[in-house]
Amino acid sequence: MSATTWTDDHLVGGHVALDFCNTVYRRFPELGAELLDSTTTFRAWLDQVALVPDSAGAVDDASLAAALDLRASLWQAFDAHREGRAVAPKALAHILRSAQRGSDDVSLDQNGVVTAAAPSGAVAALALAALQLLLNPPVPAVRACDGCGWFFVDTSRARRRRWCSMKTCGNEHKVARYRALRAGR
Ligand SMILES: [Zn+2]
Repeated sequence: MSATTWTDDHLVGGHVALDFCNTVYRRFPELGAELLDSTTTFRAWLDQVALVPDSAGAVDDASLAAALDLRASLWQAFDAHREGRAVAPKALAHILRSAQRGSDDVSLDQNGVVTAAAPSGAVAALALAALQLLLNPPVPAVRACDGCGWFFVDTSRARRRRWCSMKTCGNEHKVARYRALRAGR
């Protein structure tokens, strides 16, 4: 199994909490491959998004497991948000608990940017980043890609963004439409 190599194409959410939610190949129409498939790939991701510097050391199995648990609650919370529903109390409670996991290692700067000095603080930093977005919901709301379910904040001028990326889902859609037109359908 080859490890995930993170690129900027993985970071299309417009917010670190959404990029964290987008660490599976796809959420729709069925759950796709896990991209956070090892402590090494999680470590590399934390560095890629500048949440925990590489120099801060390795991630342990327990932190990866806690991160994946948190991600499941974040999917629930952001799906509720984008569908105009209240966040389920159980999901919120889990996010709040996660914000305390390794909280001794979390830093918050004057601009509201959360980072962790050690990988043990990664889960708390991710939970706090997610709470930042959930407590101060963007307008328009967080959306999910029509193709794969990856979350994003729509900052496009027309506010009609449908895809995580034009390189992937947007392009597949265009190719499918082109084929349909050619077939006279
Ligand atoms: Zn997509």
